[in-house]
Amino acid sequence: MKMKKHSKIAASLALTGILVLPAAVSAKTIPLNVSDSQSYNTSGTILKTSDSRLSKVSKERGPANPHYKMNVSYDSSKHQVTGSLNVAFENNLKIDLDELYFNLWGNADMFTENGGGMEVSNIKVNGQEATYKTNGTALHITGISVKKAAHSDVSMDFTVTLPNQQDRFGWYKNTVSLGNWFPILSVYDNEGWNVDPYYNYGESFYSLTGDFDVTVTTEKNQIIAATGTEIGEAKITDNLATHRYKAHDVRDFAMQMDPGYHVKSANVNNTKINVYYTNEQAKYADSMLESGIDSVSLFSEKFGEYPWPELDITGMEGWFGGMEYPQLVMISIPSSSPRSQNWVKSVTAHEIGHQWFYGIIGDNEYDEPWLDESFASFSAALYDETLDQLTSQPANNTYYHLSSPVSAFTAKANEGGISYYYGMIYGYGSRTLNDLRLELGDEQFYQSMQAYFKEMKFGVSTTADFMRVMQETSGKDLSSFFESHRVFVSDQE
Ligand SMILES: [Zn+2]
Repeated sequence: MKMKKHSKIAASLALTGILVLPAAVSAKTIPLNVSDSQSYNTSGTILKTSDSRLSKVSKERGPANPHYKMNVSYDSSKHQVTGSLNVAFENNLKIDLDELYFNLWGNADMFTENGGGMEVSNIKVNGQEATYKTNGTALHITGISVKKAAHSDVSMDFTVTLPNQQDRFGWYKNTVSLGNWFPILSVYDNEGWNVDPYYNYGESFYSLTGDFDVTVTTEKNQIIAATGTEIGEAKITDNLATHRYKAHDVRDFAMQMDPGYHVKSANVNNTKINVYYTNEQAKYADSMLESGIDSVSLFSEKFGEYPWPELDITGMEGWFGGMEYPQLVMISIPSSSPRSQNWVKSVTAHEIGHQWFYGIIGDNEYDEPWLDESFASFSAALYDETLDQLTSQPANNTYYHLSSPVSAFTAKANEGGISYYYGMIYGYGSRTLNDLRLELGDEQFYQSMQAYFKEMKFGVSTTADFMRVMQETSGKDLSSFFESHRVFVSDQE
């Protein structure tokens, strides 16, 4: 996600403390066995090249290879999605599981306060009825047996009511934004189940890549942008149309629709780029398309080739700058506050940067937000040709690290924590990556980034992984570089 203001402006606002925090910013935690950052260590740990935590040990994460099959209907008069899902997966963990978690992001307070929410029913695991309980954004399924090294599947019915909200999840005017809208399997890793609280000012999303097969029935006049590729022609019955989409190697599935959308497309390398825009957004359509073409081409060259056949760039009216999903980015162009063409191009580049950093190279966005936001901000500056302007200073308060989890910032929300989040994770993080580029030189830096891409493609990276790949590929001991830039592996423990 791109913050509300341009990064440079927000960073300076953060320093002067002008950024006003809505009351909704409070650190809410779900009392589960979530250990994300309860032991957040403000002292940091200096890493030497010889540190065993920098050795290549693949972290255990599962369940693996989820295959989602969904069949849903969207009724715009009720602003409601109803339907069913089945997710098949492999228990690649070393243990049998007697419980599973899903995230129900639509149950976050800011959505339920505006009439939104999610309900699930009829949950079956391997065909057997399961016991379950929802607690806010967490769905806990128990009374099951999911054997290790075996395939299992979960099926359920669900209803999603969209809030009337200018957000990544919600409806506003005729635009329907379906980000984080369906029950998504949580990740079990060395920390246990990751069921972190929703974070309005960034992301707490964490999921593994898999395949999606999604059938959507809605009014036939809706123009739909979606993750994946539409299979065949829509089937029309009276006033309704049924569309089917398939996506491969993606960690989420988003949609955005509006009956007033126009579409402009172009091809770059092996990818078709589609821009969806309303009449009001028409004057920005060429900027979105131009940035789409140039960003995909530039980031493919510098980091590694864009792997998916389609990318949708959608105009919408959000309170923020933009939002990233696999193969779909939302660009916020409110009719009430005009954007400059350069702003639209830069935000589009930032969100497309996330295709690489979040989409292809995944991360736990709640525990290590810098792994996607700092990298997307660096990508936008690379596109803007403003790398030499990345000069943000780190937070004057040394409590904040570049590798701090989101909870370190929300815990101090009343003391400017969210401003520090933007200043560090967007501002100082992109500056740090540029400092690393200057330290290694362009050729070595991008070679190392390509090695990082190759190793982490469709997987999940950590701060330790990034440090290791940079050191191994450059042959340099970067421990003092990372220490002086407040990048510490201990922050995630
Ligand atoms: Zn972002």
